[in-house]
Amino acid sequence: MIRLILLLIIIFTTASQPAPYHIARDGSIDPFLVAQTTAMRPDRITDLMREPWDRYTMHIQLDPSGPRLSGEITVQLTNRTEVEFDTIWFHLYPNHPDFGGRLDVTSAQIDGIPVPSRTLHGDTLIGLSAPHIIAPGAQAIVTMTFTARTPSNASQRTFGAYNMEAGVWSIASFYPILARYISGLGWDTRPIVSRGDFTVSAIALYDVTVEAPTDWQLVTSGSQHEHRTTADSRQLARFVSGPQREFYLAALQGLRQVSVNVDGTQVISYVQSDDPTAGERSVAIAATALHAFNQRFGAYPYAELEVIQAALTQFYGMEYPGVVLIEQSLYQRNDRLLETTIAHEISHQWWYGLVGNDAQGEAWLDEGLASYSQILYYEMIDVPAQAQAELEAFRAVYRRLRERGGDAPLATPPSALSNGRYVPVVYAKGALFFHTLRQHIGEDAFNEFLQRYVTTASYREIAGPDLLHAAEQACVCLLADLFHDWVVSAAAVDIP
Ligand SMILES: [Zn+2]
Repeated sequence: MIRLILLLIIIFTTASQPAPYHIARDGSIDPFLVAQTTAMRPDRITDLMREPWDRYTMHIQLDPSGPRLSGEITVQLTNRTEVEFDTIWFHLYPNHPDFGGRLDVTSAQIDGIPVPSRTLHGDTLIGLSAPHIIAPGAQAIVTMTFTARTPSNASQRTFGAYNMEAGVWSIASFYPILARYISGLGWDTRPIVSRGDFTVSAIALYDVTVEAPTDWQLVTSGSQHEHRTTADSRQLARFVSGPQREFYLAALQGLRQVSVNVDGTQVISYVQSDDPTAGERSVAIAATALHAFNQRFGAYPYAELEVIQAALTQFYGMEYPGVVLIEQSLYQRNDRLLETTIAHEISHQWWYGLVGNDAQGEAWLDEGLASYSQILYYEMIDVPAQAQAELEAFRAVYRRLRERGGDAPLATPPSALSNGRYVPVVYAKGALFFHTLRQHIGEDAFNEFLQRYVTTASYREIAGPDLLHAAEQACVCLLADLFHDWVVSAAAVDIP
C-alpha cells in the first residue's frame, strides 16, 4: 500500500506541476517510474502519470542454443474491480498447439507465500490460489519462475512469431500474461481461438532485464535503459516499456539495421543482409507511415518503433507493441505489398496498441480500422490510385462473401467465423464500415472521430459501443441505425 500511496502522491503533485514530475513533496523518487521515461517520446513522458498501471519486472536468461529461456517475473497488480479475488489468472499462450513450444511455471508466490496453482485449456491458463482474499482496491505481488522453449525453423507449420528462423529468434508472449477481469463476467478464461490474434491483455509497465550471448542483438517492445557485458561474453540489457499492452522480445543474429528519426521516435528496420536496398526501402516506408499516422491519428508516444524482416511464412505481418514483424519474402517482391503490410502493421500501434479491444471477441475493431488505414495511408502520401485499389480489393472480397451467403455482423467473434469468413468479415467488411462511416458523417467529422477516438481511448480497452459513441460525438449526429446494420446485424447494406 505504501508504494501505491506514494505513486498517487507523485502523480497528484506532479499533474499540476510537471517538472520534475517524479519527485514527491517529501522528496522521494519512484525509481521504477523514472526509468520508464526512457521509453517515451520526450513530449509524452507525462503519459506515464495517467494511471498507476500494473507493473511487470522480469529477469530473463536466453539460451539460443536451445532455443530456450528461463526467467523470473514479478507482477505488482491492483484489484481494480468491485469483487474480491481468491484466484489470479494468467495466460500461458505458448502452450497453445499453434505456438509449437512450451511455457512452464516452475514456482509461484503471492505476497511472498508459495501458492498452489491449476491450469485450464491445455495449460494455456494458470490460476494461482491467493493465500488471502485480495480486496477491491488492494494490491498483490505475484512472483513466478518459468521456463520456455520455442521451435526452430517451424514457420511452415506453427506460429512464426514464436520461432527461431532466418536469423530471428522471435519470442512473442513468452511470459505469464495477466488475464483481464471483466466486470460482470469475471476472469477472461476463454479457450484461445487461433483464428486471428491471440493476446488479449491490459496496459502495464514493463521493466525487463535480459541476459544473452553478446552476439545476439536484442529487440523488444521497450527501449534499452542499461547495458553491460560480462567477462564470459554475455550481455545484460535492461529494457523499459512505458505503458504497453504486452512485451515483445526477439534476439537477432546476422541482420542489418537501418534507422531514422521521425517526429522524435527512432524507427529501426532490421533486414537480412543479402539485400542491399531492403533496409533503406523498409525504413523509408515505416518512417512515412509513422509520420502520416502521427498527423492523422495523433502522435505515437514512444521513443522507438522497430520493423523486423522475419520468417512468418503463413501470414504477411504481425503487430506487437513497439515492434512489427514483416514476412521475409515481401522484401524481394517488386510490388506494393511490402508497403501496404508495413503501413497496416504500424497502424496497429494505434488500433490494438494504444486503443485496445478484445481481439478474440470483436477483432473487427482493430483489424477493420488497420485495414482502412491502408487506404488512409495511400491517400496521405498522395497515391490515390493505390488507395482506390485497396478499397476495390476490400469491395471484391466482401461481395464474394455475400454472394456465397457468408455475411455476418462485424461484432461476430472470430470463433464463429468458420469456413473462410474471418478475413472477409473482419478485414474487408470492417474496412468498408469505416468508409461508409466516413461518407455518412463527412471528412471533417471523420477526422475528428479518429483523433477523438485516440485521445479518449488510448491505454484503454474499448468495445463497439465506445466506437459508436466517439463517432456520434464527432459528427454530433445519431449513428445507431448505421451501426446496427453493419455491426450488430448483417443487413443488406450498400457497399460503399
Ligand atoms: Zn492486422
